[in-house]
Order: sequence, then structure tokens, then C-alpha cells
Amino acid sequence: MDSQAGQTAFDVAVVGAGAAGQMAAIAAAEEGRRVVLLEQMARPGLKILASGGGHCNLTNLVEPAVFIAAFGRQGRFMTAAMTAMGPTALRSLLASLGVPTIVRDRVYVWPASERSADVQAAHRRRIEQLGVTLRLGCLVRSLWIDSGRLMGVETASAERIAAEAVVLACGGKSWPTLGGTGGGYSLAGQAGMAIVEPLPALVALVTREQWPGRLAGVSLHNVRVRIELHGQDKTGLTGDVLMTERGISGPVVLNISGRVSQLLQQGPVPLRIELEAGIGETEWVRRLEGWRSSAGRRNVVNMLREHLPRSLCEVLCELAGVEGQTTMAQLPAANRDALAGVLGGLELTVTATEGFETAFVTRGGVKLQGVNPNTLESRSLAGLYLAGELLDLDGPSGGFNLQWAFASGWLAGKSAGRR
Ligand SMILES: Cc1cc2nc3c(=O)[nH]c(=O)nc-3n(C[C@H](O)[C@H](O)[C@H](O)COP(=O)(O)OP(=O)(O)OC[C@H]3O[C@@H](n4cnc5c(N)ncnc54)[C@H](O)[C@@H]3O)c2cc1C
Repeated sequence: MDSQAGQTAFDVAVVGAGAAGQMAAIAAAEEGRRVVLLEQMARPGLKILASGGGHCNLTNLVEPAVFIAAFGRQGRFMTAAMTAMGPTALRSLLASLGVPTIVRDRVYVWPASERSADVQAAHRRRIEQLGVTLRLGCLVRSLWIDSGRLMGVETASAERIAAEAVVLACGGKSWPTLGGTGGGYSLAGQAGMAIVEPLPALVALVTREQWPGRLAGVSLHNVRVRIELHGQDKTGLTGDVLMTERGISGPVVLNISGRVSQLLQQGPVPLRIELEAGIGETEWVRRLEGWRSSAGRRNVVNMLREHLPRSLCEVLCELAGVEGQTTMAQLPAANRDALAGVLGGLELTVTATEGFETAFVTRGGVKLQGVNPNTLESRSLAGLYLAGELLDLDGPSGGFNLQWAFASGWLAGKSAGRR
């Protein structure tokens, strides 16, 4: 492409050097295109570096249909991208770039070195090898559109960068210190694309009840959490919950938080927690009765301690109005039932999330109806492509979100490069 006076010209400009943007730049450059990769932060790939606690759970081996279903009803949108760069292809690509991967728990894929820095370094090496121009500290302020035609982008320092195609890979609004500034929404909006309100997801929840704060740091294993509102999934999610200063977190809570975030727009959200998954109130009454016969001289807290952390047992007794030192033999039936009630269905009311500052991903974003899933090109502005968390798709924890960012970045970059 010819350079116009005072402007730098490229075939493809990629906005955002995260997982999606770096993949897009690599894919477009592999098509022989001149590519510029523009990143507002001082370093590329900050979220890759922070991912998985610095170890980077980069994808997983769940069945393709299950992977797609994990993103909800909109998951089908991902089919073409996942076909272009699914987990197997991603692992081969990384291996060819010097990053072999390993599988943990038969599902989750990590770099064999367990260092996310190695994943990021491999991307950077490939970008340099392919001659991609990487510009750091470069904030893209707007799309450059002339008479309805996409010409390139304009930076915050009013520099125009000409490009035949632009890939927006700006991420969402989560974790602003790692680049989640939400700037991509206004860029997509300029192209006439609709935005589904961004909300924090994979985020800790704040509860009205203050007792979780007394247990901050305590983990509960194999509990079942479900949203107690009409029309919500009655099965809920099973796994670990972590008590925090202001409420609850942990894998199960993070995975349910996107839905809670949406429901919070209508008001506080009641949750019900089975402290042992599958063991409801009736079964607890039976257990407590069994203890009365087999261990009548032991006190309530000591018996519960065999199943739950001590500090929680004390709180549970308080919530049920039971004196914890009471022996099992002396526990009145009304107290037994109250205790079984909290054990089989502890109630908590969520009043807020901990917000975008600590949300691992963003729910919402550029509306999928405005994007062609086979190319990831905008339906409202030719030559504009979108990838990654910027789009209205978010998955659970466990390598889902990075896999989507890599796959969509790859497809958007290939499509832009083949224009
Ligand atoms: C702490 C943390 C840990 C995580 N761990 C995992 C994990 O182990 N596994 C997993 O699957 N997912 C994980 N995630 C989620 C995953 O990292 C993200 O979903 C994924 O990185 C999104 O990639 P992306 O490229 O779409 O967006 P991002 O990684 O957010 O990249 C977008 C880039 O665009 C830049 N940008 C934005 N606007 C502009 C602009 N106007 N001009 C120039 N540059 C701009 C940003 O600075 C940023 O670098 C984690 C997230 C966090 C926050």
C-alpha cells in the first residue's frame, strides 16, 4: 500500500496487543501483509502475563460442543473461530514457537514451564520475526472513516495510520490496570455497532450478611451454590467457595457471578448454599439424629467439625440459634431442624460484585448480530474485524476465555489478511 503524505500506511492495523490482537497480527502477517500492532500500555500481553496466577491456563480439552455450550446460548457464534484455531491447533502453534504444553487434571492446558511469560515471549518473538510493527504506548482514539469508508485509525496524538483493514482486539472493561479500559466499545460504536452493556464477570460477590468477613480466607469444598430466583437453574454449580472480607469468591462463585451481575440490575440476588453438595435439609436431620444415637455426649460444634471448618461451625450454630456446646443428646428437635436448615440451605444475599477492578472478564460487549461469525468482519463497516473479549461472549474459568481470544484473534487476522 502506498504511503500518503504525513501518514504511515499498512495493510492491516490491529488495535490492542493482548491474546487476541497478537494472534491477529501473527495471522495477518503470515498472509504476507504489512501489519501494525497498536497497544496503549507500555507492554504487550499484560493479561497473558497475569493469567492463571502467572502460569497461564491457556486452553482446555473439553469436547468442542461442551466448550461452546459453556459460553451460553450465543456460544454457536464461536464455531468458525474454534474450527480455525481450536485447542489442538493452538497447542501445535505454541509448540512450534518453542512453548510445549502440558495437561493438568486431564483437562486444563498450561505451558510445560508453567510460566505465562514464556507464552507472551513466544508471541513477541513471532511478531518480530514476521516484521510486524509493534507500537507501544499508542492509544487509538478513533477509527478513521472517510465518506463511509474505513481508512485506518487515528491515535490520541492525532496521528493517522492508514490501513486497508482494522482489527479491533481491545478487550473488555475488566482489570483496567492490565489494559481493560473499555476503549474498544466507542471504536466499535463509531462503526455503528451495538453494544450490550458490559458487566463484571468471573468476579467475587459482596453479600448483605457480614458474617462471611469473620471467616475470610476459609475455603469450603464440594458445596453447591444456586440462585434462588424464579427461572434460574435449579441445579446450581458445585465446587469450592472462598469466604472473603466482604462476601464470597472461589471457583463456583466466580462461575456464577456473570449471571448474578446481570440479575443485580433488578436488585439484590438471593443465593442458597448446600454446604455438602447433594445433602439437603432432610438428610441433615437424619445425620443429626444419627449422631444423637451414636455420639450423644459430644457437642454440636465438635460433631460438625468432622465435616466443616471449625470457624464456620460456630457461625452456623449462631445462625441457627443453637448453643454450640450443647451435647447432641440434649439438642432439642426445634434446634436440630434449624441447624439442618442452615446446613442444607445456607442463605446469602448478594448486593453487589467487587466490580471491574478485579473481574477476570467482562460480560457484554459488541453485539454478535453485527458481526459475521465466519470472518469476524463487521456487518456495518467493511474492512473492520473484531476479536476477543471485546465481543459479547464470556466463558467460565479454566482456559475458556484465553482460548476464545486466541481463536477469534487468529480468524480475524486471517480474514483481514486475505481481503
Ligand atoms: C488476572 C487475570 C487472570 C486471568 N487468567 C486466565 C486464565 O488463566 N485462563 C483464561 O482462559 N483466561 C484468563 N483470564 C481472562 C483472559 O486473560 C482474557 O479473557 C483474555 O486475555 C482477553 O484477551 P483479549 O486480547 O481479548 O483482551 P486483552 O487481553 O484485555 O487485550 C486487549 C488489549 O487492548 C489494549 N487496548 C484497549 N483499548 C485500546 C486502544 N484504544 N488503543 C490501543 N490499545 C488498546 C489493552 O491495553 C490490552 O492490552 C484472566 C484475566 C485476568 C484479568
